[in-house]
Amino acid sequence: MSKEDYEVVIGLEVHAELSTKTKIFCSCPTEFGAAPNTHICPICTAMPGTLPVLNEKVVEYAVKAGLATGCSIARDSKNDRKNYFYPDLPKSYQISQFDKPLCEHGEVEIEEDGEKKKIGITRIHIEEDAGKLNHNEFGGGSLVDLNRAGVPLIEIVSEPDMRSSKDAENYLRKIKSILEYIEVSDCKMQEGSLRADVNVSVRKKGAKEFGTRTEMKNMNSFRSIVRAIEYESERQIEVIEEGGTITQETLRWDDVSGKTFSMRDKEDAQDYRYFPEPDLVAIRLSEEYIENIKNNLPELPESRRARYLEEYKLSEKESKMLTASKYLSNMFEDALAICGNPKAVANWLLSDVSRILNEKEIEPDQIPFTANQLAKMIELIENGTISSAIGKKVLEELFENPRDPEEIIKEKGWIQISDEGAIKEVVTRILENNPQSIIDYKAGKDRALGFLVGQAMKETKGKANPQMLNKMFLEELNK
Ligand code: ADP
Ligand code: ZN
Ligand code: MG
Repeated sequence: MSKEDYEVVIGLEVHAELSTKTKIFCSCPTEFGAAPNTHICPICTAMPGTLPVLNEKVVEYAVKAGLATGCSIARDSKNDRKNYFYPDLPKSYQISQFDKPLCEHGEVEIEEDGEKKKIGITRIHIEEDAGKLNHNEFGGGSLVDLNRAGVPLIEIVSEPDMRSSKDAENYLRKIKSILEYIEVSDCKMQEGSLRADVNVSVRKKGAKEFGTRTEMKNMNSFRSIVRAIEYESERQIEVIEEGGTITQETLRWDDVSGKTFSMRDKEDAQDYRYFPEPDLVAIRLSEEYIENIKNNLPELPESRRARYLEEYKLSEKESKMLTASKYLSNMFEDALAICGNPKAVANWLLSDVSRILNEKEIEPDQIPFTANQLAKMIELIENGTISSAIGKKVLEELFENPRDPEEIIKEKGWIQISDEGAIKEVVTRILENNPQSIIDYKAGKDRALGFLVGQAMKETKGKANPQMLNKMFLEELNK
């Protein structure tokens, strides 16, 4: 049997840090990037005698996430202790939710090549994040930073409904985009505010039962998730083909070697000794409370997409690509508000900007320039100050060292040549140097014109106004 005879099965547990101002059980700030152990207090460092108080915003944000993913919201819910020992967990238990999560039974739709598919959401629950171990930073050993301890998380557990690494990527992109739109998490994967545990198994096509799964924890880039699923599913198929069996275990994905390594056997062995958190009251939500959140949900990607088709006359594909990321979509709207040309802004964002994002392997939330700067660059093209070829160079500059596009072109001497005399000079010279092209053109080979314009652009380093070049070459050639 070969790879094609197997089906890959994937389920994701997505952790999103909520963008509340304060932590889940104390009033420490949640802000990322502070000096180690400066956002801590007796509660989130688990001093004896302290008591947690649940941050109401956390419940609100989780309910928002539940409603945006079609979950039913539990009227009665509670917190539980999940007990385990690890140096980044000061209480030696994590306050989470066990048997009564806030949200259950949702689904989101993903799409690949026009084919739609629903991915079930088993549950969404709230819990606290742990601290962070900094290894070897100060010459050996590990130091604990508790700034992250007590930062609120939601965990979104999917059904094992994905069948390829592409499905998993699409699903995670969808979840990310929904959470960004409803503004409950900034979803910055590079800062760890969105991470996923990836569960993978394989089975023979047509088999009724799922195979045994392995789990890769804390993955925080799309690229590594895709690579890890590809690698791990092939590894499992190989093991089975060689007559072996898969052990349920937690694996570590190593991005450098592109392989998975065993971390610990899991089976059902790890016993977290869950029990209800005695220091917190149960969570009871009224109908009005839930209704109110539902009525105030912001625009979701789906409806924004429909609006782009209608209002800006963008294509299906353009609307979909722009609205997939709230950051990209907001940049589109903000730039549009300044320069007023939806097609042009969409084109720049979806072609050149997206290409550079891909090359740099970064996400739209890491775009270094502002919508204002992008809009100004587009305006400079539209008013003829620069050609679109120069626009591309300005864009590269905006990625490297963002500043006012007008300043960039002045500094670099990139202002478009639109002076008749100067253009005429170039045209004459190019014609003199390319007599064969004149003969070709007269013989009906229209391509010769394109060649001549190209030569003129080359000579002026892209600065000549292409419309004027075209016109003037035509005039000369038709004389
Ligand atoms: P745990 O906390 O032990 O990992 P959960 O029930 O929280 O268990 O999460 C299990 C995850 O694994 C879910 O996302 C589920 O869809 C996925 N899953 C379960 N069985 C399989 C399987 N056979 N193959 C792939 N994924 C699976
Ligand atoms: Zn605190
Ligand atoms: Mg798990």
